[in-house]
Amino acid sequence: MIRHDDNYINGEWVRAGSEDFRQLTNPATEEVYGEVRRGTAEDVDRAVAAAQGALDAWSQTDPADRAATLHAMADIMERRADEITASVVREIGMPVTRAKTASTGVSISDLRHFADALPDVVWEEKVGDSTVRRMAAGVVGAIGAWNGPMRSVSLKVGAAIAAGCTVVVKPSEVAPLTPHFLASVAEEAGVPAGVVNFVNGSGSIVGEAITAHPGVDMVSITGSVGAGARVMEVAARRVKRVALELGGKSANIVLEDADLEEAVRSGIDDAFRNSGQACGALTRLLVPRARLAEAEQLAGETADSFIIGDPTAPRTQLGPLANADQYESVRGHISRALDAGVKLITGGLDHPAGLDRGYYVRSTVFSGTNSDRLAQEEVFGPVVIIIPFDDEDEAIRIANDSEFGLAGGVWAGDREHARRVASRIRTGRVRINGTPIDMRAPHGGFKLSGIGREMGRYGIEDYLEYQAQHG
Ligand code: NAP
Repeated sequence: MIRHDDNYINGEWVRAGSEDFRQLTNPATEEVYGEVRRGTAEDVDRAVAAAQGALDAWSQTDPADRAATLHAMADIMERRADEITASVVREIGMPVTRAKTASTGVSISDLRHFADALPDVVWEEKVGDSTVRRMAAGVVGAIGAWNGPMRSVSLKVGAAIAAGCTVVVKPSEVAPLTPHFLASVAEEAGVPAGVVNFVNGSGSIVGEAITAHPGVDMVSITGSVGAGARVMEVAARRVKRVALELGGKSANIVLEDADLEEAVRSGIDDAFRNSGQACGALTRLLVPRARLAEAEQLAGETADSFIIGDPTAPRTQLGPLANADQYESVRGHISRALDAGVKLITGGLDHPAGLDRGYYVRSTVFSGTNSDRLAQEEVFGPVVIIIPFDDEDEAIRIANDSEFGLAGGVWAGDREHARRVASRIRTGRVRINGTPIDMRAPHGGFKLSGIGREMGRYGIEDYLEYQAQHG
């Protein structure tokens, strides 16, 4: 059993204030393997005081020195990559081969991207005789999600400290151990005391305390719409800036002249990464009506080909869902879709064969319409719905007919054509013909998907304020 008692505050590991513990369960085995002592509002007070105390000196450091610090942190993470990967596999059941790249590897490269982007920030410019400077927004509250326990935190910490801010982090209670590596990496890299602080605990106590705290200037949260809206509401009382990275229900449009087979296979791959527990997953597959039957067959075959099972096995592609609540929630979505008569292509409620324990759900494909509840709600599991369209305008209308606006995909024979369609989709990013995401480009959403952008220079700029100096 792992027992984790400490918060990281002002450069020291200090025992959290409550006698209350959060138990950690391995989603692949359903065995409890650890517990984490919860923090309190008083712990948040101490962490915020430390962050306030460190702010003036850190915000005045040379950006080149902050870049060197970020590279030093990335170097340490590289050295400790195997430990960090093993932790995320145990905490949320992310398959190890994927975790190496999509969790640990990308978190390392994000830190390097922030370092490399620092020279591109326009720190000072002239407007007439005045000088406009960019300054650190101040003390940042950073609240992480469980589906990307390291990355949802490292994107915030990396960008905030690049900007010259100091940070108080609350990791998700579901997966708090993986993000704690970042605190220990910051310590080892010599990040000054108080610049990065971690407080464990629940959203309702520690998250609320951070958000409401008068010493916190800005709050950035990755999570559900409900939690994001609550943060915005509480932050509004003190007119704080917020950055909200929330959910999605993204559409993948496969136009008439696209390579249907490649588009469907790539789209299902995208939708099922991290067992579908990915905010930008392309979970609505939009295909020409004339090719619906072909798309259904291809999608079903692709879904069935996923190797599901033990996340520690290198060949596994689909692990368990991250926790019992998520397992019940995803099964609820599937069950409601079945009750509503949405056509099931493959998957469904049966437990995957040969897996007696663990929160496993079969890779599932439905075929229906955009007005099905399944097409409107974020499922956050390995579930895709195929939706037919009659012409391009209808495809765009369906893609935009969502409360969310996080991501999307367009497939066309001609890339320029795909780009024209993409520019009519109201989401924060669109992948053209399956092109991988460049992690230096901005990530974030329209509509219920949030406010603000993470990654690269855009991520840093979210943590900056303008100051106009006249004279
Ligand atoms: P969640 O349940 O909303 O929790 C997110 C974080 O908010 C957790 O740390 C949670 O604390 C905290 N929280 C809850 N209530 C709070 C409150 N009143 N005040 C302050 N903090 C509070 O979300 P999740 O289940 O961890 O993550 C899944 C969601 O995140 C999905 O909707 C997904 O799409 C979204 N997501 C978005 C992005 C993006 O970049 N747009 C990336 C990844 C995930 P606890 O520890 O108590 O849970």
